[in-house]
Amino acid sequence: MNKYFKTLNINGLGPLTQEDFIELNKICSKVLSNKSSSKKNRCFICKKQNKPYCNSHTIPQFILKNIAKNGELLTTQIFNKTPFSKPISGLNNTQTFHKICTDCDKKTFKDYENPDAYDKIPSQNILKQIALKSYISRSYKHQKELKLGYYAKNNIQQNADYLRLVQLEYELNVCNYNYQSNNKKANFVLKNINNDEVLFKIQYFKTLDYVVPYALQSHFIILFDFNDEPLANTFDISDINAKDDIILCIFPLKTKSIIIAFDYLGNSLYDNFFTTLNTLTLDEQLSIINYLVFLYCEDIYFNNNIDDKIKKDENLIKFANSQQKVGAKSFDVLFLSEKKYEEERLKEILNSHNINNYKTIPNLLGKKYAINARCL
Ligand SMILES: [Zn+2]
Repeated sequence: MNKYFKTLNINGLGPLTQEDFIELNKICSKVLSNKSSSKKNRCFICKKQNKPYCNSHTIPQFILKNIAKNGELLTTQIFNKTPFSKPISGLNNTQTFHKICTDCDKKTFKDYENPDAYDKIPSQNILKQIALKSYISRSYKHQKELKLGYYAKNNIQQNADYLRLVQLEYELNVCNYNYQSNNKKANFVLKNINNDEVLFKIQYFKTLDYVVPYALQSHFIILFDFNDEPLANTFDISDINAKDDIILCIFPLKTKSIIIAFDYLGNSLYDNFFTTLNTLTLDEQLSIINYLVFLYCEDIYFNNNIDDKIKKDENLIKFANSQQKVGAKSFDVLFLSEKKYEEERLKEILNSHNINNYKTIPNLLGKKYAINARCL
């Protein structure tokens, strides 16, 4: 581990040497398993204390099983030239979190964890359950990042690197904002989980008659539409609308796959985007959705047989490694004046998030990349 803790940089590249890789993973497991600093177990759903946490899966395990090989999946670290962790994930650890008691985990999500639920368009209950799980899972992820960030801040050598400290402080703020905001959103959905209130509307639903090679359940905001016009605000954290999320699921099932995209009822931000998307050919629709996945999401889980050519695809590598800088002031432009800075930043982000570049990466949702069940 170098003295600047650059390898604990949430936005940066991973360790450059094998030695640093081992050291980083040692530190992470030490910091994250530090029980003395963790509060008493309090279930996020029933709010009862001292109940053991369940090993909750974000993407239901029955879905992950459809693409796992020998109980294992690959993570996006396969695209990272300097990975933070091993690119293989066992079924029992894939996007799991510990914030809910076993009773609540069993009871609250039973509609969407039922494989028979996907023969028809998902019900409002299923959408609420997906959203709740995604928000709690993301809050857990940021909670872990905060722990690591504070550890780095407390252990970084004072005066070693002033800029690194400032940057770390900034990352901690963004992380803390994301942690709080996911908690708030989770509590909002939780309040309505068992009532008849309609919270969400489906923007896209498609059943494919083949099994796609990756699974995903994530929420994000789409920055630009097909005409390069900005959609959601990401420049000013204090002004981000919590209801700007689009929630996207790619669920490979036994013999078919389901794609669901939904957002909040009353939020019209993405209506035109999805109206346009729905007028395109199926191949183009899938290609654009696949592009959104790589552009905006980190937690993508792949079937082990994924082609080596895909792993080496330069554009996929670039997207998988780039982080969405929500409200972030990129360090190299920090000292520009505000107006100049915003212009520069808009140009830079439009360039890197232009939806019309969707053809530059292989469309892994296309039939060509379908999993042959006999190979599993
Ligand atoms: Zn509970």
